[in-house]
Amino acid sequence: MGEVWTLAEYRFGKLSSVSFELLNRGKSLAQKLNAPLASIILGFAIKDEDINELIARGADKVYVVDDKNLENFLVESYAKVLIELVNEYKPDILLAAATTTGRTLMPYVAVRIRTGLTADCTVLDVEDETGNLLQTRPAIGGNILATIKTPNTRPQMATVRPHSMKPALPEKGRSGEVIRKKYDDSTFKTKSKYLRFIKDESQQVTVQDAKIIVAGGKGVGKAENFAIIDKLAELLGGAVGASRDVVDRGWKSYPHQIGLSGKTVSPALYIAAGISGAVQHIAGMQTSENIIAINKDPDAQIFHLADLGIVGDLNEILPILIDRIYDYKKREASANV
Ligand SMILES: Cc1cc2nc3c(=O)[nH]c(=O)nc-3n(C[C@H](O)[C@H](O)[C@H](O)COP(=O)(O)OP(=O)(O)OC[C@H]3O[C@@H](n4cnc5c(N)ncnc54)[C@H](O)[C@@H]3O)c2cc1C
Repeated sequence: MGEVWTLAEYRFGKLSSVSFELLNRGKSLAQKLNAPLASIILGFAIKDEDINELIARGADKVYVVDDKNLENFLVESYAKVLIELVNEYKPDILLAAATTTGRTLMPYVAVRIRTGLTADCTVLDVEDETGNLLQTRPAIGGNILATIKTPNTRPQMATVRPHSMKPALPEKGRSGEVIRKKYDDSTFKTKSKYLRFIKDESQQVTVQDAKIIVAGGKGVGKAENFAIIDKLAELLGGAVGASRDVVDRGWKSYPHQIGLSGKTVSPALYIAAGISGAVQHIAGMQTSENIIAINKDPDAQIFHLADLGIVGDLNEILPILIDRIYDYKKREASANV
């Protein structure tokens, strides 16, 4: 049985937490298959503490390729290195996050090594009889869950939605093997050239990083009315989310969209205002720790999921909530003087 691999994401000198979510996914598969779990880390000036962190969080092995040419993500050079590693070590399973990096890199690699890839999985398991990876993802607009197998080729490749699983926690005293690989310059020859990275400054806090999200749906009524959603999010130090209906209408831009065809989020608090709770929206926020829904329709689907449901007009409820938060903050500030 080959190894189970997870692709860690290392950018700007930092491991992304999605690397630890993948280890959590990989850990249960590796245990079922009785196979080693390994993380792959590609980048430049990779710190030992980051490699050790992967081991502490469950990797039995870490394959490290540290090269100036991997400082910035270019799909051709990353893919060439990953293909070299796959051809040499022949893992059974290769998982990456369904981030921009994973979504770009994995199809590129899968085509070249002629194996299957299932994108955007929400559940992964192992088939008892065959040991094949069962790759489950929403299909047909999220109305069914399709389970896909790659029985004839290896590795079995899948991308996993970020935030669809908690990160693996570090365990003190874990040890693992570190395998450092070097490749010559020809591996890094690419037709494309990295020019610069332009950060999206349109959101102070992105929905994927936010601990609190205030999301608005069609019930908000029009683009200008979103000011009240923006205000509440700002007061709570959170991010603004939106349903697809809102994005399609141009009231908010795509990076705000939560759901099947938008971002998957898992904040501590999700406030859904004027959102009906369509299955495609819920697919992107159902793992939120606490959900508050505000909707004037008492039968709205979102109330089936909400921890706290408020039936009423958001234009009346949100200003009251904002006033209360202002009062609370004022009291807190004067108590601290
Ligand atoms: C392939 C596919 C992918 C999709 N991907 C996504 C996705 O990623 N994300 C997503 O969100 N959707 C997605 N959708 C669309 C989804 O099916 C719904 O159409 C969408 O989520 C509905 O958005 P909404 O809740 O804002 O609008 P609606 O369903 O129209 O709901 C509006 C709600 O606002 C309430 N309301 C109205 N006025 C007020 C008021 N004044 N105060 C309080 N409540 C009020 C209404 O009672 C209603 O419940 C996808 C659909 C398909 C087919």
